[in-house]
Amino acid sequence: MSFSSLGLIDPITRTLATLAYTEPTPVQTQAIPAVLAGRDVMAAAQTGTGKTAGFALPVLQRLTMEATRVASNSTRALVLVPTRELAEQVHASFKAYGAGLPLRTMVAYGGVSINPQMMRLRKGLDLLVATPGRLLDLQRQNALKLNGVQMLVLDEADRMLDLGFSRELDQVFAALPPLRQTLLFSATFSDPIRALADKLLKDPVSIET
Ligand code: AMP
Repeated sequence: MSFSSLGLIDPITRTLATLAYTEPTPVQTQAIPAVLAGRDVMAAAQTGTGKTAGFALPVLQRLTMEATRVASNSTRALVLVPTRELAEQVHASFKAYGAGLPLRTMVAYGGVSINPQMMRLRKGLDLLVATPGRLLDLQRQNALKLNGVQMLVLDEADRMLDLGFSRELDQVFAALPPLRQTLLFSATFSDPIRALADKLLKDPVSIET
């Protein structure tokens, strides 16, 4: 199995070759074609399985292929993560995998000054990686509108619920357009995660690794 046989385009497969990713992992083999086809995805995947590339690669490709203009104070894709450390890591992965692509990406989390984040949002983004609290702060200050989000990714959704982000998540979801693609990644599938998936996902492809 190769990355190109999963449907990934040359600029991405070339970057993967430079990173010495020779073969997709099982979660990547299942997730990449489903996301490229526009499906919602619910994936049970632990850290270390290659889950980040499982959502990042096809999201980058869809953003590149459907090159609509980015609107001011808006983002086309939103990736929600539970902690600032994970936000940095996931954003670094998007940067590495998207090295050859003309996309504007940014990471935003709390505990650092909000002003530079607000400035950068003015030009609009293709992709924003954020923690829920700071995302809502940016929205409340009118620095970010969520009505242009076409793709939503929840990474480590179980940790987001464990950390008590349930209310923040509901506020974010309420501001998103209903017509969008949603990907939910979680290490475990407890009842609260299943309830979240039922609420957010439309006819999802289920992935277990
Ligand atoms: P993750 O599960 O997303 O935290 O990824 C775990 C590690 O595996 C990261 O260091 C990735 O760079 C690496 N990785 C992801 N996919 C592949 C692949 N197909 N081949 C080799 N390494 C990979």
